[in-house]
Amino acid sequence: MRGQKLGAGLIAQSQSALPPFVLHRPTSLGEAVALTRQHPEAVIAAGCSDLVAQFREGLEPEVLISVQRIKELRAISNEDGLLRIGSLVSHAEGSRSPEILSTVPALAAAWGSIATVRIRYRGTLGGNLLARRYRYEMPVILSALGAQMQFQGGDIAALPVSSLWDRDPGNVGILTAVTVGTPSLLWFGYERSMRPLSTVSLAVRKNPQAGLTVTAVCGSEYRQPFVLSHTAEATAITELDPAFVGEVLAAQLPDEAGDYSGSIDYRRHLVGVLCRRLLADATGNQRKG
Ligand SMILES: Cc1cc2nc3c(=O)[nH]c(=O)nc-3n(C[C@H](O)[C@H](O)[C@H](O)COP(=O)(O)OP(=O)(O)OC[C@H]3O[C@@H](n4cnc5c(N)ncnc54)[C@H](O)[C@@H]3O)c2cc1C
Repeated sequence: MRGQKLGAGLIAQSQSALPPFVLHRPTSLGEAVALTRQHPEAVIAAGCSDLVAQFREGLEPEVLISVQRIKELRAISNEDGLLRIGSLVSHAEGSRSPEILSTVPALAAAWGSIATVRIRYRGTLGGNLLARRYRYEMPVILSALGAQMQFQGGDIAALPVSSLWDRDPGNVGILTAVTVGTPSLLWFGYERSMRPLSTVSLAVRKNPQAGLTVTAVCGSEYRQPFVLSHTAEATAITELDPAFVGEVLAAQLPDEAGDYSGSIDYRRHLVGVLCRRLLADATGNQRKG
């Protein structure tokens, strides 16, 4: 039997309910930022698809700030080589955005492949990232793209998506947007055919001086994402050898990436195959596995 919470009202004994909380529904970012400064302990709510699970896990907010009515957080722009995606953009909106489709179409395709139809309309980019759950895919997808999270009203202004698990980000306030630099980006792809065991997102960028950098991010339902990277002297993407680069990337997977669902040797093999497949697509070579 689950407990009756003080002040929660009359509920069946087989159910539990949240104690009363104060709900704020600001309509502008300025108002929301002022509220987070006033209530640093407040919980931010977007689509609430993960928050409902957090409530079941024991979260009991005293103050809830819903950002649903803040139009600024739904904006997507692409200016001066910077793709800027508002945190309140839903998975469905992101996968159909003309700005994203015209700059990084594979990001739109990857985004449209996650979750169920209902969740794609309900769940938001910000919620997917800040739920900080290993099994969610936007951290994996966006880390390979070198995306940065932009915040207001908390203790930090920006943080790379890839550092989500380095430490607890503490009081971040409101995630306003995620930015991706696009001028040096040559190719991006995402492989989720082996989910939940392993997913891989992979980006190829041109280096400022010379050469190419291949960044792969390996995700799994059970472990935090791992960032793998290889710098090649190649001048064009077609010069990359998918088998060689895939092997080099997979070898970087640390031992702690192995778990009860697969030994580290199996994981490295799997990630090598997925990287090779993505690189074969990137280079136009025929897939060999
Ligand atoms: C049935 C089901 C299937 C799913 N399948 C997948 C899947 O295949 N792949 C996948 O990646 N995900 C999947 N998900 C997860 C889903 O994508 C996330 O639940 C969703 O993205 C969360 O977004 P939200 O807006 O509902 O977040 P909320 O529940 O509103 O918030 C989640 C967390 O983020 C914080 N937060 C939200 N927005 C902000 C903000 N702007 N600033 C600061 N903090 C913020 C909240 O405080 C909370 O801690 C699935 C979920 C369900 C229920």
